[in-house]
Amino acid sequence: SLKGKTAVITGSNSGIGLGVATELAKAGADVVLNSFTDRDEDHKLAEDLSKEHGVTARYIKADMSKGDDCRTLIEQAGRCDILINNAGIQHVAAIDEFPPEKWDAIIAINMSSAFHTTAAALPLMREAGWGRVVNIASAHGLTASPFKSAYVAAKHGVVGLTKVTALETAEEPITANAICPGYVLTPLVEAQIPDTMKEYDMDRETVIRDVLLARQPSKEFATVEQLGGTAIFLCSDAAAQITGTTISVDGGWTAL
Ligand code: NAD
Repeated sequence: SLKGKTAVITGSNSGIGLGVATELAKAGADVVLNSFTDRDEDHKLAEDLSKEHGVTARYIKADMSKGDDCRTLIEQAGRCDILINNAGIQHVAAIDEFPPEKWDAIIAINMSSAFHTTAAALPLMREAGWGRVVNIASAHGLTASPFKSAYVAAKHGVVGLTKVTALETAEEPITANAICPGYVLTPLVEAQIPDTMKEYDMDRETVIRDVLLARQPSKEFATVEQLGGTAIFLCSDAAAQITGTTISVDGGWTAL
């Protein structure tokens, strides 16, 4: 059980972040949800988790594209035994047409935010005498696709940061690892389906099988529950000597 631990999950009002937060709450952890908005429905997500699982759950607004916000999120959380760096965005374009401001935003949100939150969280983990850093990277942290320069660069960067975090905490009861998901059917991916159906003149099933899951040999999406389960494993005693590495949850993508 993760009772007594506090988990901070960046970018967790949707998709994988919310799924991982839910699994952690189910396992007994207190959770801090985050995104850059401050709507009633954001705070309601935390209330619901708290009611359903009997844990303390809070929503804290912080913009992961800003270093100061990243550090303030951890300060406001007050405790951070488990840090899940998950916030991320995507933009798809050829390098010579890639908008520089999109490049900067992806590098900031998908990569630099993890540097800032980790920097703020490690002293709290040391104080508590235990810690887990789990970075949600991607199959694109290990391999590449065309037209995703910023995303692939950022995710490779996150894998590199994970290794350094692990080395700097190697003799302490703190571990740092990256989970590398293949395709997960989140709002981020769901939104691409209608356009792709039009572009290729395909039905939904064909788009999913032949376009989205073309590189996922299992031909199935990974689920947010499976990613939550992987994060919980990394928080368990069985994983105490697993540090500085990646765990792929990608249906065989990176075996290809
Ligand atoms: P999503 O769009 O559902 O979730 C992204 C989350 O990040 C949202 O909660 C969003 O509010 C938050 N976010 C975006 N910009 C932010 C900012 N500036 N500050 C704070 N929060 C911000 O997408 P998802 O698919 O759940 O993606 C979550 C993570 O998983 C991302 O890092 C993504 O790269 C990674 N990932 C996703 C897939 C997939 O197939 N869905 C595969 C591999 C990796």
